[in-house]
Amino acid sequence: MTNADIIGRSLANIWHPCTQMKLHEQLPLVPVRRGAGVWLYDFEQNRYLDAVSSWWVNLFGHCNPRINQAIKEQLDTLEHVMLAGFTHEPAVLLSERLSSLAPAGLGHCFYASDGASATEIALKMSAHYWRNTGKPDKCSFISLQNSYHGETLGALSVTDVPLFKAAYGALIRQNATVPSPDSRLAEQGESPEEYALRCAGRLEAYLQQHHAGTAALIIEPLIQGAAGMAMYHPVYLRKARELCSRYEVHLIADEIAVGMGRTGTLFACEQAEICPDFLLLSKGITGGYLPLSVVMTTDTVYQAYYSNDVGRGFLHSHSYTGNPLACRAALATLDIFAADNTLETNRSKAAYMNRVAAPLSSHERVRNFRNTGMVWAFEVETAHTDFAQRLFSVALEHGVLLRPMGKTAYFMPPYVISEQEMDFLMAQTLESINKIG
Ligand SMILES: *Cc1c(COP(=O)(O)O)cnc(C)c1O
Repeated sequence: MTNADIIGRSLANIWHPCTQMKLHEQLPLVPVRRGAGVWLYDFEQNRYLDAVSSWWVNLFGHCNPRINQAIKEQLDTLEHVMLAGFTHEPAVLLSERLSSLAPAGLGHCFYASDGASATEIALKMSAHYWRNTGKPDKCSFISLQNSYHGETLGALSVTDVPLFKAAYGALIRQNATVPSPDSRLAEQGESPEEYALRCAGRLEAYLQQHHAGTAALIIEPLIQGAAGMAMYHPVYLRKARELCSRYEVHLIADEIAVGMGRTGTLFACEQAEICPDFLLLSKGITGGYLPLSVVMTTDTVYQAYYSNDVGRGFLHSHSYTGNPLACRAALATLDIFAADNTLETNRSKAAYMNRVAAPLSSHERVRNFRNTGMVWAFEVETAHTDFAQRLFSVALEHGVLLRPMGKTAYFMPPYVISEQEMDFLMAQTLESINKIG
């Protein structure tokens, strides 16, 4: 099999996600034969450093021997069983582990298979909670400007991406958006903290007026990923928690992208010392191996459903809910965090990365160079309207997989990246940006 073979057969048969397929007339697909660590290999001896962790899911490298082994053992024990009326060891162990690691009070785990489904579950669970507790009018939601919570219809109703709104607006229920605390939007002379507080004031004004019809605020803690790695001050989360409690509105923390150590703590909410009413995890939870998501919630929410009445129960199911292989991959992932002291190791890796990033962060066309945990982002001043596509292509020629969003480039590498690999990533990115102009 050659690269050309696999590309041709792919285009003939696969409708690729998030892609205008006609674009592939000019921009070739990237065929991947195998992966190892931070590297993806094609069919012809080329390799690419996966600086986006394959859409933000991979944590400990491709084909990690420890996760591979755990899945192989599980495969020979139990591949799958339904979780309605049945239970199994990997789901039990994972729920116990997650509950002990997450902010205190999130003792109930509800599983699904992807991030968007976790969003759907949290929205339904919140509104149904209010219905079960005699407040059926509390059934609309608030999200932040430029938010992203997935692409199914319910998730799109709390996702603020103009392209999606234009295409699917007619199918979507209208919810409210409040200003984003994204530090880049601060006024001249206003600190990220001051700006975050000003935004919290806008949230308060909205809640004062509309709390009686509002079920929940859904938020991406610390980093709004799809907004262009928009980072903000944790004081916003503390204020949001206070306001949600005061106005009887649930706080849903969508940690699908930022959870699992990405921001420097296992969960981003820890940095604001808050506990949400719902915590959503997916993406990195299985180390980037298998589809799995979980909605963690409180005993208060759980008890509102506990009844003899079926209609008061939570009505939601997926065929592969709590799949044992995926749960086992998640357990192996958590084992690595513990065995390798990953959060601490990542702190020194991030410090190293910031040092070698100096030529990039001080580059004359680079703006807003920023870092939270194991995420880096910056805007590039360029006249090219198709900058994202150009950087993607040129970086690939330099052996690096980047996936810029507009004029924002970012790094979200697997945690196993070595110093030598960080050097390579920086040097090749810099050269690519210089080449594009
Ligand atoms: C990726 C993502 C989702 C959706 O997850 P999928 O598995 O792609 O459906 C939701 N919220 C955030 C913050 C995400 O980054």
